[in-house]
Formats: sequence, C-alpha cells, structure tokens
Amino acid sequence: MATTIALITGANKGIGFETARQLGARGATVLAGARDEARGKQAEQALREALGEAGGAEARFVPLDVTDATSVREAADWIGREYGYLDILVNNAGIALGGGPPSQTDLDALREVYETNVLGVIIVTNAMLPLLRRAPAARIVNVSSEVGSITSMTDPGGPLGQMPASLAYPSSKSALNMVTALYAKELRDTPVKVNAANPGYTATDLNHHSGFRSVAEGAEASVHLATLGPDGPSGILYGHLWTADAYGPLPW
Ligand code: NAP
Repeated sequence: MATTIALITGANKGIGFETARQLGARGATVLAGARDEARGKQAEQALREALGEAGGAEARFVPLDVTDATSVREAADWIGREYGYLDILVNNAGIALGGGPPSQTDLDALREVYETNVLGVIIVTNAMLPLLRRAPAARIVNVSSEVGSITSMTDPGGPLGQMPASLAYPSSKSALNMVTALYAKELRDTPVKVNAANPGYTATDLNHHSGFRSVAEGAEASVHLATLGPDGPSGILYGHLWTADAYGPLPW
C-alpha cells in the first residue's frame, strides 16, 4: 500500500508541529512546511527524533511561505517530483494581529492577517489540488477557530458571546469557514473531503501561551479531520466550543 503523504503548513512550532508529530506517529510521511529555513530544519530534526521513538515514520522540511505564490509553487513542484501525490493537506499556518474594538481596526494589520489566514490557504490549496486529486481519497483541513463562528460569537447566552473581540483575526477565520464550505461544495462529487478544525484555546506563541489547552489537545481536531474515513463529513467546522468536553460539528 502506498505511504500516506501529509503536508502541514506552519509546522515548525505550536499546533502545526504537534499535528505533524501525531500524523507521523500514525505512519504518515510528514512534510513540515515552514517559511524560515533554520526553523524548518530544526523542526524536521525534532520530528525525526520524536517519530523515531514512535516507529520511524519520515519527516521532511519543505520551504513554504503561504503568502508567497512562488514559494508555494516550488513546494508543490517538489512534492510532485518526490511523491507524485498528496493525501493530506493541513492549512495550519496562521497569525493573529490587531487588537482593540472593530471601530479601531488597524488596516495594515487586517491586510496582513487576511493575506496569511485567508489568501494563503487559497494559494496553497489551489497549488496542491492537482496532487490531492491524484491521491485515492485526499483530506484538506483548514485550521480555523471557534471565534470565526458567527453564530457562537453573537450568541449572548454562549461562552463567546460576551467576550470583547477585535475584528481582524475572528473575521479572517469566518472567511476561512466560507472558503472551506465552498471548496467542499466544489469537490462534493469527488473523494476529497474539506473541513475546518477548531483547535480550541491552546497555549502557543500565538496567544503568548495564555491558552488553557495543550498543543496535543489543540492538534486533535486537525488529526481527526485529516484521517476521516470514507463516511466522514465534508464541509463542516469541527471541534468543541470553549470549555466543553464533547467534540463535534460547530455552528458556522
Ligand atoms: P503559532 O505557534 O504562532 O504557530 C503559527 C505557525 O504558522 C508558525 O509555524 C508560523 O511560522 C506559521 N506561519 C505564520 N505565517 C506564515 C506564513 N506566511 N507562511 C508559512 N508559515 C507561517 O500558532 P498556533 O497557535 O500553533 O496556530 C496554528 C493555527 O491554529 C493557526 O491557524 C491559528 O489561527 C489556529 N488557532 C490557534 C488557536 C490557539 O489558541 N493557539 C486557537 C484557534 C485556532 P513562524 O515560526 O515562521 O512564524
């Protein structure tokens, strides 16, 4: 049977690194996308050491800046030459910039967040889609957030409805949710499944380690969606809401 090939963007640290580690531990060859060569090579080494202990799956650094179409094209060409197909794409790279209420939004920060969290996912997905179509049943996971759920963020009785929120990051994840739904719709009649993952509030550099979930927990939703069987859903946001224990589909 052919080896499962998984590309994870922003895999040099945080939830992305842990997602790569968990997929590697399940036997996938993990391609760790990173925009910085030194950080990427360090992650490759750390993944090889971690996976060696877990049974020796392969980990390889792939130079990939999701906002740079040339870098993305080169990554796709390299994967095509090395493997010829791609089973799993986890669009994990993301940034959070721009605080304050919506009325005080810094437009430069907003543009930067959208370039990475929305346009970056589209650039990477479109470049990788020919390789994903060559796999028997590819899975695309877009790492979104519960703060991108318009229903949850505006529910006055829910845990997120009372929280003050800035505009850039949550709205970028709402856009990503629609991006996810529309790719799922386009690919409805193919074996490719496209879903959005909510890691939950996870302690990483993104939030200066204020999150209350571990990276192992934060990666669970991505790994679940990346390894869905043929009867699994396509076009959902999956995870759990804030401190709830139960995983499942979340409202858009
Ligand atoms: P993190 O530790 O800051 O990691 C973010 C990763 O994305 C890093 O590897 C970073 O690379 C990479 N990245 C940023 N811009 C990039 C670009 N242009 N090209 C390639 N890679 C880029 O954050 P995290 O918490 O693990 O976040 C991972 C994902 O989970 C993000 O999409 C985030 O929005 C989402 N998420 C996080 C939480 C949370 O509570 N932590 C909750 C919900 C959703 P560098 O090291 O080079 O900067």
